Amino acid sequence: MVSEFDVIARYFSRPTPQAVLGPGDDCALLAPAAGSELAISTDMLVEGSHFLPDTDPCQLGWKALAVNLSDLAAMGATPRWALLAGSFPEVRAVWLEAFATGFFACATHYGVDLVGGDTTRGPLNLCLTVIGEVAAGTALRRDRALPGDDLWVSGQPGLAALGLAHLQGTTRLSEGLARRCLAALQQPRPRVELGRELRRRGLAHAAIDVSDGLLGDLEHVLERSAVAAEVSTTQLPYLPAGADPTLARRCQLSGGDDYELVFSAPPAKRGALSALAAELDLPLWRFGRVFAAATATDATRLTVVDENGQPLAIDRTGFDHFG
Ligand code: ADP
Ligand code: MG
Repeated sequence: MVSEFDVIARYFSRPTPQAVLGPGDDCALLAPAAGSELAISTDMLVEGSHFLPDTDPCQLGWKALAVNLSDLAAMGATPRWALLAGSFPEVRAVWLEAFATGFFACATHYGVDLVGGDTTRGPLNLCLTVIGEVAAGTALRRDRALPGDDLWVSGQPGLAALGLAHLQGTTRLSEGLARRCLAALQQPRPRVELGRELRRRGLAHAAIDVSDGLLGDLEHVLERSAVAAEVSTTQLPYLPAGADPTLARRCQLSGGDDYELVFSAPPAKRGALSALAAELDLPLWRFGRVFAAATATDATRLTVVDENGQPLAIDRTGFDHFG
């Protein structure tokens, strides 16, 4: 019989050049660079809730790590280490091999060492902890947006939700768009470089990653910063051709799983942000403005206006597991 230790040794033990001590002892030992703070985040992925049963294991391995790295990106931290606590229903070599391939492809791409974890038998459930470094006192936070700031979002939010609708058969995308949307859903690219440069160059006041939906996640920033905002659909990316426009708009505003960054920045940084977008070859969209909050009620915090300047009635709440 294959033991837990065989599984760890065979699939989850890789060199860890960034750790003093990697997997195999009671703890990993890490030495953060002098003058840095540690940014630490953990996320659980449950089959049926966060990913479909029968998800390709290689894609799942990539995504499990990528969505966690997105939290580091949102704070402008540099990813360094990860821990993986997994329960797996059975030891299937082909499945584990593919999962590890996807996981370590992502780890290698973003420069992360897997330094420890836990391995048990049970319903498929993955809990990732990621640790990054950020120069002390400089992390991008949700609670720093200021009245007068512009609101920006990266990339093309909504593609992942469109891809999911396509997979579930509730919509039919054109072939070309389906390919783009499924890539966004299955192999998200956390905006690590964008977050790091926003922080390093002092371009953003506040930031968050879009995991649960653009408007819902923006509201977290507004709430934590005690400010209000108006955003306009005309300033968001063009809706992709090849999808039902109403659905595409809903996915853009409220779809989850995109892992783009939303951030607030003073208008004086518009030029520098355009230059950064060109440098990273990543579009940045200025889609709204931050205002002082008149009252601190949720109902008035965020206004969305459409092409005609009319307030848009839309379910702006992001994905909520208990909702
Ligand atoms: P302990 O009983 O002390 O908790 P374990 O037997 O759970 O130790 O794990 C042995 C070693 O293997 C530990 O260093 C742990 O961090 C590491 N480990 C366990 N599972 C994983 C995994 N999935 N990926 C990476 N390292 C792991
Ligand atoms: Mg253990």
